[in-house]
Formats: sequence, C-alpha cells, structure tokens
Amino acid sequence: MKKIILLGAPGSGKGTLAERITAKYGIPQISTGDILRQNIADGTELGKKAKAYMDKGELVPDALILDLIAGRLAQPDANDGYMLDGFPRTIAQAEALGGNLAEGGSGIDFVVYLNTPKDELIKRISGRRLCSACSKSYNVNNNEFAPSSEGVCDACGGGLIQRPDDTEAVAENRIDVYNEQTLPLVEYYRNAGLLIELDGMGPVYDKVDAMSRLIEKV
Ligand code: AMP
Repeated sequence: MKKIILLGAPGSGKGTLAERITAKYGIPQISTGDILRQNIADGTELGKKAKAYMDKGELVPDALILDLIAGRLAQPDANDGYMLDGFPRTIAQAEALGGNLAEGGSGIDFVVYLNTPKDELIKRISGRRLCSACSKSYNVNNNEFAPSSEGVCDACGGGLIQRPDDTEAVAENRIDVYNEQTLPLVEYYRNAGLLIELDGMGPVYDKVDAMSRLIEKV
C-alpha cells in the first residue's frame, strides 16, 4: 500500500510525473483538478459551484473538496494506495487527510515536493494544451512535449485546447494563491519528516527514477 502526495505549484510537473508513475506501477493518480473539471463537463451541482472559483484561479472551498476526496478515496481502486495530485492544497485539507478522512487518508508514506521557479511555471502553464478527446497533455513551449503537428493530438487525432485557467493572467493568480495557501504545506510535511524535495527543473526521467527508488523502499 503506497500513499503518496505530490506537492508543487501549478505547472511544476505533478501531473506528468503522476502519469509516468501510474504507467510504471499502476498506482492510481487522484487529481482533484481533473475530478472538478469532469464535474463541470457533466454539469453537476459541484461543477457549477466550483467553476466560478476555478475560472479565477482561486481555490474551491475546503468543504466541497473534502467531500469530493472522501468519496474518491472510498473507491475500490484506492484501497491499494494512490498518488494525490493537487490535494491537499491548504493546511485544513492536510489536517483532514491526516485525520483519517473517510478511513482512506491516514498513513501517508511520503510527500514529493517539486520545487520550480516562477518564470518556468508561467512558461509551462501558458504553453500547456490538452486533447479535447482523450485529455493527453502537451506543451507548445517545450519540444519534448510538443505535438508533432500543431493543434492535433498525436495519440488520437483530437483537437488540442487550452484550459481556461491556463491563460497567463489566471496563471499568475494561481501561483499567488499557491504561495499563500499551499506553500505552508512544505514546512508542514517537512516537520512531519515526510518531505522529499526534487528539483522541478530536472528532466522528467530523473524525477521518475528518484520517485521509483522511494516507492520501492516503502
Ligand atoms: P489543478 O488541475 O490541480 O491545477 O486545479 C485546477 C483548479 O481546481 C485550481 O485552481 C482550484 O480552483 C481547483 N482545485 C483543485 N484542487 C483543489 C484543492 N485541493 N483545493 C481547492 N481547490 C482545488
């Protein structure tokens, strides 16, 4: 049972790392952002409430997020462990998780913190494109992640779109919100002896290797 938290600013590479680790070890990636976007696409009550916050780059209120994550951690595929991507984002969320949220949250093995400078975050976020059909992620500002033909998904041929909150203006606000509300979690988890800091600027394979060694140890 491996319970891992991925911590880092928007654009720090949590999602990419989680995708690679899921492919290698089968540990499910639980992204609160992805679940919220799915709720918006499905037109649920939660989606309607969350959208206004997300479009501005603000955090969705803790109460909504805690309900959502408790439901997700109760799914059978989370029984054998998970990687949390984008949760917790506040001290209150971290405390709820540590307080054995829905029986699924206790006993985090380690927290990987991707430390990435702000100018790089803005470059990555504003270059991010997603396939409208299969959600595969690309980056037009980085050759390693650029699609082979502009605007088209290599995997399925679907059209590529930009997330409404990935525009530069909203990205700036998301990073400010991160610095105010989420960055304190670095000290929180360092004090708990759980924090592993990785250089967010390094190549993805280095981070996958470092994380693989951690996973194989626990
Ligand atoms: P992400 O895909 O992780 O960048 O999240 C996109 C947006 O969803 C964030 O800017 C927030 O508005 C919202 N969100 C995702 N996860 C959380 C969370 N744990 N707490 C509050 N808001 C969240």
